[in-house]
Amino acid sequence: MTKILLINCGILTMNAERHQYNNGAIQIEGDRIIRVGKSSDLIHECGDDFEQVDLRGRWILPGLVNTHVHTSQQLGRGLGDDVNLLTWLHERIWPYESSLTEEDSYISSLLCGIEQIRSGVTCFAEPGGQFVNGMGRAVTELGIRGILAKSTMDMGEGLPARWNESTQQALDIQIENLERWHNQAGGRIRVWFGLRTIFNNSDELIIRSKQLADKYKVGVHMHVAEIREEAEFAKQTRGATTVAHLNELGVLDKNFLAVHTVWLTEDEIQMFAEKDVKVSHNPASAMRVLGFAKVPEMLKAGICVSIGTDGAPSNNRMSLIDEMWVTSLIHKGRLLDPTAVPAQDVLAMATCDGARALLWDDEIGSLEVGKKADLVVINPDTATMLPLHDPVANMVTALRTENVESVMVDGKWIMRKGTITVVNEVEIINESKRRAADILLRSGIKLPNRFKVVDL
Ligand SMILES: [Zn+2]
Repeated sequence: MTKILLINCGILTMNAERHQYNNGAIQIEGDRIIRVGKSSDLIHECGDDFEQVDLRGRWILPGLVNTHVHTSQQLGRGLGDDVNLLTWLHERIWPYESSLTEEDSYISSLLCGIEQIRSGVTCFAEPGGQFVNGMGRAVTELGIRGILAKSTMDMGEGLPARWNESTQQALDIQIENLERWHNQAGGRIRVWFGLRTIFNNSDELIIRSKQLADKYKVGVHMHVAEIREEAEFAKQTRGATTVAHLNELGVLDKNFLAVHTVWLTEDEIQMFAEKDVKVSHNPASAMRVLGFAKVPEMLKAGICVSIGTDGAPSNNRMSLIDEMWVTSLIHKGRLLDPTAVPAQDVLAMATCDGARALLWDDEIGSLEVGKKADLVVINPDTATMLPLHDPVANMVTALRTENVESVMVDGKWIMRKGTITVVNEVEIINESKRRAADILLRSGIKLPNRFKVVDL
């Protein structure tokens, strides 16, 4: 059993009181934190059987939580740049996703997982690829924590033929996935119900997904109010905007995770607050084609807002660290208010509030006694991050992926001193390059040359 004492480090616990240690220690036994305190106290009082790890000059954060990442889209990075949403969807992403095999999804998820670990993420939520089995195998090997879902679509125009499924089929396969993968990998995997968008989901599917989520005590993950045209579509086909319609269907609830939520009205923000709906804010992806989510307004209304990266063809950086930085900037710009969404709020969105959004805050999201030992060791000694006059702000405004030195999940190092310990990173990168080229050929996607290639 793991018995580790991490000493001499700064700690941002992200507990309810926001306790910070400038020279703290964390005692870990098995997969749990058993003590957090001053280094001098813990060194003195801890038994000899604990391995002491001296982290002088380092800072420890709770493992970051990425509440929206399409792991199966990782091999599609670069397929969706500088195009409008319809081209992105119909000519790039649907052909790409519908050409994937389960093995492609597995390798894509491994590659995405490596990027997650390197950027300090210890838990993520996948809104739904096609192959939960592929994603489940990857999460098992990566040692990370993940909530998986299958992307479901039981209606809509222009869908690839192999995705045609009835409402019943869409639900049956999700139940099958849940019964196979929920609480697997030592409890690191959970399975939720996935809804793609109102464009592709019938009311029956939406209502029955929520009923099943309640039955299995899990959540529902759905893209909501993503683009401006969505409100018009929902009004024409359902008689109300997406959120108002979901409210009428009775599915807005504390276990409903709404992603993007860019085009919310004031009334709809109130609906979210009243029903304790959770939000995943994906700022970089939103800047590409969607717009500004009203995050300061949602935070003010008391909504639990978390952060996600979205998928590689829409962001294209799958680093939650970059996403924290973008979150800290864009709302200041939109409101012309330099005090909007301060760094401490951004850090909460990426840690404790992310855990709340994923209904996992009883075990992760902060460094406290009894919680899982999921944490990130930051080495701030780089020209890009020093000095640390304001360490909390620096974790948002100056932290880069290269400052993430080590990552622990369930008391086990999955990255140690810059090396991923759980999988062979070089092999996965090579396999990813080979498969990405094959998928492009199979999908028939044609990317225009941006420059004149002269050595063909
Ligand atoms: Zn998405």
